[in-house]
Amino acid sequence: MKSIELIKPYFIKNRLMIGIGLLCLIAVDFLQLIIPRIMKLAIDDLTLFKADMKKLAIYALYIIGIALLTTFFRYLWRKNLIGTSRIVEEGLRNRLFIHIQTLSSPYFDKTKTGDIMAHATNDIMHIRMAIGMGIVALTDAIILGSAAIGFMLYINKTLTIFALIPMPFIIFGTRLLSRKMHRLYGAVQESFSELTESVREQFAGIQVIKAYAREKEESYIIETKSKDYIKKNLRLVKITGFFFPMMLLFSNISLVIVLYLGGRQTIYSTITPGDFVAFINYLGLITWPMMAMGWVTNLVQRGKASLDRINKIMETPPEIVDKIDATTIHKDAGEIVFKNVSFSYGDDAQSVLSDINIRIEKGKITGIAGPPGSGKTTFLSLIPRLYDVSCGQIQIDGEDIRNIRLYDIRKTITFMPQEPFLFDGTIRDNITLGSKNIKESDLEKIMDKAMLLRTVKSFPSGIDTIVGEKGIVLSGGQKQRIALARSFLADSPIIILDDPVSQVDVETGSAIINNIRSMQGEKTIIIVSHRLSALCFADQIAVIDKGKITELGNHDLLMKLGKYYANTFRMQEIEEEMNAI
Ligand code: ADP
Repeated sequence: MKSIELIKPYFIKNRLMIGIGLLCLIAVDFLQLIIPRIMKLAIDDLTLFKADMKKLAIYALYIIGIALLTTFFRYLWRKNLIGTSRIVEEGLRNRLFIHIQTLSSPYFDKTKTGDIMAHATNDIMHIRMAIGMGIVALTDAIILGSAAIGFMLYINKTLTIFALIPMPFIIFGTRLLSRKMHRLYGAVQESFSELTESVREQFAGIQVIKAYAREKEESYIIETKSKDYIKKNLRLVKITGFFFPMMLLFSNISLVIVLYLGGRQTIYSTITPGDFVAFINYLGLITWPMMAMGWVTNLVQRGKASLDRINKIMETPPEIVDKIDATTIHKDAGEIVFKNVSFSYGDDAQSVLSDINIRIEKGKITGIAGPPGSGKTTFLSLIPRLYDVSCGQIQIDGEDIRNIRLYDIRKTITFMPQEPFLFDGTIRDNITLGSKNIKESDLEKIMDKAMLLRTVKSFPSGIDTIVGEKGIVLSGGQKQRIALARSFLADSPIIILDDPVSQVDVETGSAIINNIRSMQGEKTIIIVSHRLSALCFADQIAVIDKGKITELGNHDLLMKLGKYYANTFRMQEIEEEMNAI
C-alpha cells in the first residue's frame, strides 16, 4: 500500500479531471443503454402497425442525437482519463529520473543500464495502463455491465439467466489468456531488444568484425536471434488469434440461447419483438464489460507490481549524501590530505586501496603512476566522493570531505575520467555542457590549451560541428582533447586528470602537458599517466602498486630509488628513442 503514496498526489491534484472523465464515461455507458430501448419502441410500433414515417424519423433523430452525445462524451472521457494517466506517467518518469541521478556510483556499479531503462519504460507504462485503462475497464465492467444486465432482467429474468451462462467463460477466459498474452508479449519485447542490441553492437564493432573476417559467424548470430523473435511472435499470435474468436464464440453461444429461448418467448408473446431485439442489443453491450472484468484484475496486478518496483528504487537512498550540518568550502581550496585511507568496492570485496597516506599541496602538481589495475583511478575517484572511503579520511583544507557539501566539493574539483564521454550534440555543447554566456575568445583560449583549436578550426562548422552518430566521427585523441577542454573550462581550483594524454601523439601530449604545467602554482593538479614523461616535472610523484603507495617523491628521488618508476621511465625512454628512429 505504501507504493500508492507515490501516485496519490497526482490523483488529488487532478481530481477534477478524473471526476469529469468518470462522469463522461458513465454518461457514455448510459447513452449506449438507451439505444436498445428506442429500437424496442420502434420495432414494437412496426410490428403492431403503429409506426408511421414521422415516428420513425423521430426515433432516428433520437438515435443520431444519442450517437452525437456519445461521441462528445467519449472524447471527453478519453481526454480526461487517458490524459490523467499520461500526466502520472510523465510525473513518475521525471521523479524517477531525478532520483536515479542522485544515486551514487556504487548503485550504478550494481545495476544494469538495461534494468534502469526497463523501469523507465515498461514499469511506467504498466502503471499508466493500470490507471488509464484500469479505471475505464473497471467502470465499464461495473456500470455498463450491471446496467445492461439490469435492463435484460427487466425484460425477462429467465432469459437473462440462460443468456448469461457463457459469460463466466468470457471473464475467466480473458483473465487467463490476457495474463498469458502479457507474458508472451514481454518475451517478444525482450527478444526484440536482444535482436536490436546485437545489431547495434555489430555495427558499432563492424571494424573488428571485418578485420577478423567474422561476417559469416555474426550473420548467423543475428539469424538465430531473428528466428527466436519470430518464434516468440508466432506463439503470441497463436494466443491472440485464439482469444478473440474464442470470446466471439461464447458471445455467439449466448446469442443462440437468446435466439432460441427468446424467440420462443416472442412467439408465445411473453415478450414483445421489440424486447427481443433490445435484449439482443444488450447482450452485444455486455461482452466488453465481461472481458473488462477479466482484464482489469491483470491490469491492476501488473500496475501494482510495477509501482512496487518503482517505489523500491525511489526508497533507495543515495549512499553518498550531505550530512545535515555539512559545511561549505573555500572557493579556492586546494590542499588534499589522505589519512590512512583504505577502500574496497563493496563490503565483501577485497581492498583496492590500503593505508594510503599522502599530502597534496595547494597549487602543486602531483603525478600518480603504477601498473594497470593497481588502484590509480580508484584513488582519484575518492577525492570528489564518487565513492566514500572504507577507512581513514580524506581532507580538503583540513576538513573531512564527508563534512563538506557534496555540491561544493564537485564544484571545487574538476574530474576528467579516463574514458572521454561525449554527449550527442556539438563540440561547443560538449565543452560548455550547456552553460551559456561563455565568451568565444575564452572558448578559443581553452581549446588552444587542450591543443584542440587547430583541429576544430579545420572542421567546416568549427566548434558547432555535431559529434557522435549524427555528426562526424572523432578520433580517440580528439575526443580526449574535447574532454580536456571541458575540464579546463570548469576553472575549478582542483583538477584531477585520469590519463589525459593516453590517446594523443607524443608531440601533442607534450604540448598539453606543458599547458598543464603553466597552471602550476594556480591550481592543485593531480594527474595519472602511464606515460611517465608526462609526470616527471611534477612536484611529487606517487607510485601505487597493489593498492599501496610504494614510492613517493620527485622525479630525481624516484630515479635514485631504482624501483618501478625508474625502471618504467628508462624503458619508455628507450621505446620513444626507438620510435623516433
Ligand atoms: P588503475 O586505474 O590503476 O588501472 P583501478 O582503480 O581502475 O586501477 O582498479 C583497481 C582495481 O579495482 C581493479 O582490480 C579493478 O578490477 C577494481 N575495480 C575498479 N573499478 C571497480 C568497480 N566499479 N567495481 C568493482 N571493482 C572495481
